[in-house]
Amino acid sequence: MTATTDTSPAASASAASDRAADAVDAVDPELRETARSLHSPVVDWFATHARDLPWRRPEAGAWGVMVSEFMLQQTPVNRVLPVYEEWMERWPRPADLAAEAPGEAVRAWGRLGYPRRALRLHGAAKAIAERHGGEVPGEHAQLLALPGVGEYTAAAVVSFAYGKRHAVLDTNVRRVFARAVSGQQYPPNATTAAERKLARALLPEDDTTASRWAAATMELGALVCTARGPECGRCPIAAQCAWQLAGAPEHQGPARRTQSYAGTDRQVRGRLLAVLRTSKDPVPQSALDRVWDEPVQRARALDGLVSDGLVEPLDGDRYRLPLT
Ligand code: SF4
Repeated sequence: MTATTDTSPAASASAASDRAADAVDAVDPELRETARSLHSPVVDWFATHARDLPWRRPEAGAWGVMVSEFMLQQTPVNRVLPVYEEWMERWPRPADLAAEAPGEAVRAWGRLGYPRRALRLHGAAKAIAERHGGEVPGEHAQLLALPGVGEYTAAAVVSFAYGKRHAVLDTNVRRVFARAVSGQQYPPNATTAAERKLARALLPEDDTTASRWAAATMELGALVCTARGPECGRCPIAAQCAWQLAGAPEHQGPARRTQSYAGTDRQVRGRLLAVLRTSKDPVPQSALDRVWDEPVQRARALDGLVSDGLVEPLDGDRYRLPLT
């Protein structure tokens, strides 16, 4: 995709910040050398092994990339695929989604989980329609200024949709860098400033290669350098991998977080929302009471959905997905 030149203050600020970050990263020539040794094998591997995913096709455009990035945060590709296809067919442009009630976004989100992402995506679509003439903006700072768009999503859209040089740091990329460059089995539980600096230092110089590198490292982490069972035998950078060269030492840091679901408020919220999603009409409290036996937890989950704006309470103890 070709991006138009943006001379807005937001674009200038973003470029200045990138240049400042580059200046800091430029002080470590050894790391630069490591980066150069990794670029070609990883990018070449991606050229032959990348999955054919709909949001990677040219017709997806920046909106398709943005929708996929919202959906893929915390949800695996195979669960995202059918929802993404339906979503893009129904709302092929941001303005199409913006014209609908936010509750329709929550309904179409289905069982992807973390449904506040649907509300955020709807809010971003409205802002794109109102402030950007219906086109997803192509500058990192402009994207970050949209409601519900965080650092990761802004970087991913700039890199994948507009082919610009930007560090894109998701769980998969962090794991690849932790192993291949830092020699650690796992990255820290939360992204650190040191990881961001490392990711910037590893970026190829030119936009095109940097964009491919971002997608390729993500794919390598998803398909080969996986959390539980890295397949080092088919890894294109096995010969340079710091963790392998160190003898694959066991993780020494804090215990890794695991997420449970059964019995949590998240599960109750999911069940309550499932009732509301399948009904076009407002739902009585009695229908919601049937999905979970424990009344205190059920009430807490419902209160949470209301305060998050995912459910709208009506007179007469009835509830529906939000219209505004
Ligand atoms: S060699 Fe193994 S641990 Fe190292 S980057 Fe490749 S898959 Fe990951």
